[in-house]
Amino acid sequence: MTITSPLPDELRADVAKASRMLIGAEWVEAASGQTLDVFDPSTGAVVAQSAAGGAAEVDRAVAAARAALHGPWSKVTPIQRGRMITRLAELVEQNAEQLARLESLDVGMPIMEARYIDVPFSVDILHYYAGWPTKITGDTIPVSFPHNFGGPYHAYTRREPVGVVAAIIPWNLPLMMAVKKLAPALATGNTIVVKPAEQTPLVMARLAELVLEAGIPEGVVNYVTGLGEAAGAALVNHPGVNKVTFTGSVETGKAIARAATGTLKRVSLELGGKSPHIIFDDADLERSIVSAGMAIFAGQGESCIAGSRLYAQRGVYEEVLAGLAERASSIRLGPGLDDTTEMGPLVSAEHRDKVVGYLDLSKQEGRVVAGGEAWGDQGYFVQPTVVTDLRPDSRVLREEIFGPVLSVVPFDTEEEVTALANATDYGLGAGVWTKDVGRAHRMAASIESGQVWVNCYQAVDAALPFGGYKQSGWGRETCKESLDDFLELKTVVVHL
Ligand code: NAP
Ligand code: MG
Repeated sequence: MTITSPLPDELRADVAKASRMLIGAEWVEAASGQTLDVFDPSTGAVVAQSAAGGAAEVDRAVAAARAALHGPWSKVTPIQRGRMITRLAELVEQNAEQLARLESLDVGMPIMEARYIDVPFSVDILHYYAGWPTKITGDTIPVSFPHNFGGPYHAYTRREPVGVVAAIIPWNLPLMMAVKKLAPALATGNTIVVKPAEQTPLVMARLAELVLEAGIPEGVVNYVTGLGEAAGAALVNHPGVNKVTFTGSVETGKAIARAATGTLKRVSLELGGKSPHIIFDDADLERSIVSAGMAIFAGQGESCIAGSRLYAQRGVYEEVLAGLAERASSIRLGPGLDDTTEMGPLVSAEHRDKVVGYLDLSKQEGRVVAGGEAWGDQGYFVQPTVVTDLRPDSRVLREEIFGPVLSVVPFDTEEEVTALANATDYGLGAGVWTKDVGRAHRMAASIESGQVWVNCYQAVDAALPFGGYKQSGWGRETCKESLDDFLELKTVVVHL
C-alpha cells in the first residue's frame, strides 16, 4: 500500500526509518523484502512500512548479540556501563518531544500522556538502572565441610549475566516497555534483541540510534521488527537466546512459556489484568471518582493496570456511578497529536472491533450509562463507556477488554468486596479508597495482586516492584528484585 496520510514534516524522516532493523552495526531491511503497513490510528491511513523480519534476521541478530556479549561488552567496566545508561537517559530526555510525537502517532495516545508519562518515566527507569552495575555483587560464604574434607576452603558466589536476552514488546507503551527491558538487561551486562509489536515499530528505530549515540557498543542492542508468529516465535525458539522477557496478553504469554520449554530458556512475563478499584462509603469521593476515571480512561484503557472493575459501597454507589458517567461523557476525543485531546483512538482496527464487541455485549449483559458506541467517521475511536447491573459471571466483568470500558458494581461489606476483587484469574493492580487506616491495611493484605494502591491509583516508580500474581505473570519489573531475572548465580569453591 502507498503512504496515504499527511504527516507532520518533522516526523517524516523518523517514520521512514521503520523500514530498517538494527543488527550489530548494520541497518538492514528484511531479507525477504517484505514489509508490514503501519497505520495512523487517528485516521486509519498508512504512514509507514516496517520491515517484516523473521527467522533469518533473528539468527543474525542473536549472533551479533552473542558476539558482543563475549567481545567488547564483556570488557566494559561496571562504572562505564552505568555511564552509558545515564547517557542514554540524557539522550532520551533531550529528544523527548520527538519521541513523544512518534509514540503518539504510532499508538494513538494523547501527546500529553506521551509527554508527561511515557517519556519521563522511561528516563527515570534508565537513571534508576544506571546506578546498579556497580552494586551487583556475590557473597563470600563460610562453609562447614573443611574439617571432614581436608579443607580449608574458600567459597563465594558470582552473579553473571544470563547471556542473550530477547525482549518481546506490546503496542500500548512501546518506548517505556522497551526501556523497561533494555535498562535491566544492560545494567546486568547482558546483550539484547528487541522485537517491537507489529502495530507500533516507529519509536524503536529512534531509540536504537540513541543507544549507539550513547556509546553502547554495536551488537549489544539489536532489534528485529516483524510478526509475533515469525520474528517473535523465532526468538523464543532460538537456542542462542538465554532468556525471554515478554509483556502482552495472557494467551501469548502462555504460548511463549510453552515454546520456551524446548530449550528451557528463562521466561519472565508481564501479562494482563482486570484490576479492582474499590471505593468505600468513607472515601474522599471527589478524589476517588477522578482517580477511578483516570484509572480506566487514561491511555484509552489500553493499560495492563487499567482499573476496569469498580466496586462502590452501597452508600456511595449511585453518586460514584453518576460521577463516572459524567466524567466519561465529558472526555474530549481526538487525534493523539492534538494538544487538546484527552483520549485518542485505539491502536488498530482489529482491536477497535474487539472492543466494540464488548460494547455490544455490555448492552446485553448490563446497563450502559455512558458511551457504548464507536466514535467519529475515521480512525479507531470508541467512546469512554460506563456499564453497571452486570451479573458476577458476565464476560464484561470477567474478561480483560483493554479499552475504555468501566464496570461499576455495588457491594455492602469488606468481606464481600474482598471476595469479589479476588474472583479473577488476574492479579496485577488494585485500588482501595477509605479513610479507615485499619481497613486500608487489611485490604492491602487480603487482595491477591502484585500492587495495591491506597487512596491513589497507578502510582508506579522505577524503584518499586511491578508485576502480577496468578495469571498476570511471572517475575517483577523495575525494582532491585528484577535484576535476579537477568543474572545467573554461580558458586565457586576453592581448596586452599
Ligand atoms: P500479544 O499478541 O500478546 O502481543 C504482544 C507481543 O507479542 C507482540 O510483539 C506480538 O507480536 C508478540 N507475539 C505474538 N505472538 C507471539 C508468539 N507466538 N511468539 C512470540 N511473540 C509473539 O498482544 P496483542 O495481540 O497485540 O494484543 C492482544 C491483547 O493483549 C490485548 O487486547 C490486551 O488484552 C493484551 N495486551 C496486554 C498488554 C499488557 O501490557 N499487559 C499489552 C498489550 C496487549 P505482533 O503483535 O507484532 O504479531
Ligand atoms: Mg498480536
